[in-house]
Amino acid sequence: MRVPKAGAMAVVFGLALTATGCGGDEGPQGTLSIGIKFDQPGVGLRETGGVFSGFDVDVATYIAKELGYKPEQIEFKKVDSSDRELLLQYNEVKFVAASYSISDKRKEKVDFAGPYFTAHQDLLVRADDNTITKAEDLNNRKLCSVSGSTSASNVKEKLAPKASLLELGGYSECVIALQDGQADAMTTDNSILAGYAAQKANAGKFKLVGLSLSNESYGIGVKKGNKELVEKINAALKKMVADGSWDAAVKKNFGPAYRSEPAPQITTGS
Ligand code: GLU
Repeated sequence: MRVPKAGAMAVVFGLALTATGCGGDEGPQGTLSIGIKFDQPGVGLRETGGVFSGFDVDVATYIAKELGYKPEQIEFKKVDSSDRELLLQYNEVKFVAASYSISDKRKEKVDFAGPYFTAHQDLLVRADDNTITKAEDLNNRKLCSVSGSTSASNVKEKLAPKASLLELGGYSECVIALQDGQADAMTTDNSILAGYAAQKANAGKFKLVGLSLSNESYGIGVKKGNKELVEKINAALKKMVADGSWDAAVKKNFGPAYRSEPAPQITTGS
């Protein structure tokens, strides 16, 4: 990095994520862009009025605090399952907290801090449907999932290769397809499905089949090569678990029906 002239210093520090020790205890200036989902209740949701809620939102807010940012400095940006790597590669967001499973394929493009949560792939069906009780029942049925998700690729590669897969842009679109009969089931992480099933507007409409078709370890995505940020985020996650905020966030966001597991071991630089 070039050494900036005095006049440009403020700008540089304003943009620097890690400008601790400069400017006393004021923390970094400017905004911190974080990629989250906007349509997943309990996980990442933009509510009417622009309020954000969900476990990923709480985790992201905690990390931001540990990086020195105040809540009002956070700018949540919408990510979809299919554009998380791109948004990191193009510096559109500093990190992604969006039900983002750590996978070898994704690790070719981005780095992950964490893991900070374990979910499992499951199915959501209409409440009166008793014909789908296992993955094989999906063959020759209409199944909805989301482009760019591990859920969709697991279905195609192993779980139900003969299912007719409807791939949409977001899970809330699959919920509508399921309700309208364009899909017989939708599949993704149980954490996400439980959130839709628990929504007041969906009361009595859907049920989770209760399968554990995969292990999904959620990581915080960062731009590839940013080891320093991975380490800082891992330190924040460890603190969040140790001080009880992680447990509190699980309880607050997932509700009593969700069988949550203890916090996973955070492995540095995964
Ligand atoms: N955790 C899975 C994934 O990262 C499914 C959820 C999602 O699409 O965000 O692909």
